[in-house]
Amino acid sequence: MTADSKRFHPHGKHLIAGEWVGGGETFANSPATGESDQFQSGTPAHVDRACQAAEEAFWSYAYASRETRAAFLGTIADEMEARAETITEIGTRESGLPEARLQGERGRTTGQLRLFADHIRKGAHLDRRVDGALPERQPMPRPDIRMIQRPIGPVAVFGASNFPLAFSTAGGDTAAALAAGCPVVVKGHSAHPGTGEIVAEAIHAAIQKCDIHPGVFSLIHANSREVGQTLVQHPLIKAVGFTGSLGGGRALFDLCAQRPEPIPFFGELGSVNPMFVLADAARNRGTEIGAGWAGSLTMGAGQFCTNPGIAVVAKGAEGDAFVAAAKEALEQVGPQVMLTDGIAQAYRDGKERFTGRNAVRALVSNDSEGRAAQPNLFETDADTYLQDHALGEEVFGPLGLVLRVSSGDEMQELAKGFEGQLTATLQMDEGDTDAAKALMPILERKAGRVLVNGFPTGVEVCDAMVHGGPYPASTNFGATSVGTMAIRRFLRPVSYQNLPEALLPEDLRGASA
Ligand code: NAP
Repeated sequence: MTADSKRFHPHGKHLIAGEWVGGGETFANSPATGESDQFQSGTPAHVDRACQAAEEAFWSYAYASRETRAAFLGTIADEMEARAETITEIGTRESGLPEARLQGERGRTTGQLRLFADHIRKGAHLDRRVDGALPERQPMPRPDIRMIQRPIGPVAVFGASNFPLAFSTAGGDTAAALAAGCPVVVKGHSAHPGTGEIVAEAIHAAIQKCDIHPGVFSLIHANSREVGQTLVQHPLIKAVGFTGSLGGGRALFDLCAQRPEPIPFFGELGSVNPMFVLADAARNRGTEIGAGWAGSLTMGAGQFCTNPGIAVVAKGAEGDAFVAAAKEALEQVGPQVMLTDGIAQAYRDGKERFTGRNAVRALVSNDSEGRAAQPNLFETDADTYLQDHALGEEVFGPLGLVLRVSSGDEMQELAKGFEGQLTATLQMDEGDTDAAKALMPILERKAGRVLVNGFPTGVEVCDAMVHGGPYPASTNFGATSVGTMAIRRFLRPVSYQNLPEALLPEDLRGASA
């Protein structure tokens, strides 16, 4: 087989209600290697058609049995595996990510679909509550009241460029919404439309195999903001799952809030994921932690939302070993391909924000060119950081900032000054327990996940995971976009009072208090 015969040639159409739809203007993707492909750009009419079909599908899909929905999710996973090589081929070409990463991410994506299938089979998401009738109660009898969570309606999904599979077309948001019983309309990411197409093809095949209403899933490609904006404002859309930048997420969040009927916007946005290196850990293992931090910071060209962009460590000899090791390790890292030209440019701009700034010292300074990024490392003190808001903004890429503090109190003040985060990390040894205890109440107010002696890159998909946090890490601090709890975003509790058995949702029939 020649290399070209393995190449996936996308047709570039939208998948709307079971049909591949073309027409209209086109745009090209910008693969990291090889020639580009052409894609249709969606219109408000495409959005309307997809939303109408999603609403129509709701009436059967939301009322299908949990087993039907679970089998559908499992079949999507099977169909993705049947297209594994094609997904990896187009995915690596479009994103510039290595093959092994795309293969791993596919495993995570199919694993996620199957995890949600198991979750709904168990009925754990229903949060079933039954308060039986108390007809003899004085002075008033109590009616029979029972509650379960119900699907909310069609959901719009926006994926992120840095996870072309796990946070995209059939990613966590889509899996959670479909598991909940909500049809999905995906606004395809313009950085990986070909990857989106092959995954949509897998979902399409699963729809046909499982005989599900085709309106349950649509994918609309677009390289204009109009499609996404029209989608979140469409009256039939009842919630949005978004993973991406703070700027994009905030713009769409505001549109959702301004609708005549405001809807929830579940945005997972940016984070600098501070890491606190406590005194004993810095003294005993500073070199090891510094090298480990550099590895986490540069993994995947630093293009992870959980990238630990800021390290906090003591001034003086105590913290010097950590800083020296991080510097040495970062100096060994060569250029890495970034996801898009735009992200590479934003990385260069981010570095410029730090360069030449008062009291900010460059420890590793590299000029990055084209679509490649090289690591950068800066250092400053807590006061400078707290007074300069720009230093706390995420730079998406392999850029680290070390904040040097003179005391435990200053570390706590700094922790209080951070905005909402996806994660906060403590590097600690046993002798650091009291300092860690003092930081904990601050960190758990700031972050969705607090971890000890590890690095936050690598998010386990499981029941107890929270991938979210106070704004700007997410737009809804009570939610997670990873793990089974993500399904709650697309469910709404309904109480049923004194309903005869025949009128109750199937999942509430026969339940006793
Ligand atoms: P992005 O540029 O915000 O794009 C995400 C999606 O939103 C794309 O489909 C994009 O459309 C669309 N979009 C962006 N701004 C819009 C607007 N004003 N109106 C309508 N649609 C809009 O994000 P990205 O570059 O893909 O991802 C990188 C960023 O995501 C990083 O900051 C990273 O930290 C963050 N991220 C966060 C998480 C998390 O869980 N918190 C996970 C991964 C990534 P186009 O296709 O037209 O650009």
